[in-house]
Amino acid sequence: MNVSKKVALSVYERDSYRCAACSSDSLSIQHRTNRGMGGDPKGYKNVLSNLMALCGLCNGALEVDTKFRDTGIRNGWKTFEWDDTERVAVFYIWAREWRLLSNDGTFRVVDVSEITRGKNDAPLVIGKAA
Ligand SMILES: [Zn+2]
Repeated sequence: MNVSKKVALSVYERDSYRCAACSSDSLSIQHRTNRGMGGDPKGYKNVLSNLMALCGLCNGALEVDTKFRDTGIRNGWKTFEWDDTERVAVFYIWAREWRLLSNDGTFRVVDVSEITRGKNDAPLVIGKAA
């Protein structure tokens, strides 16, 4: 993991110390856009809207399980490099809500009617993050 402990803690705090995909509290930092999704070849983008709390199992499965990766794209846990992570909603299973993450560390809940579907059903939102 190449984020500082301070950044990781702020992400866990924002995400209520639970995995967005399965509610586990055994957490790791998920980079929504990474090299495998066409991200910066020199490394990961560490802006807060690109970071979220997922457990190690879900995090790993997104990298190796293509079916789960598709689920991840539909739920905003994985994003494409050409999409702005502040404009791709994230589904939090335990909260049963869609959230739009901001690079300032805040989020807002978005109504499903605000979501339009992009490539591979990516949940895009037109509008302000916070
Ligand atoms: Zn999980």
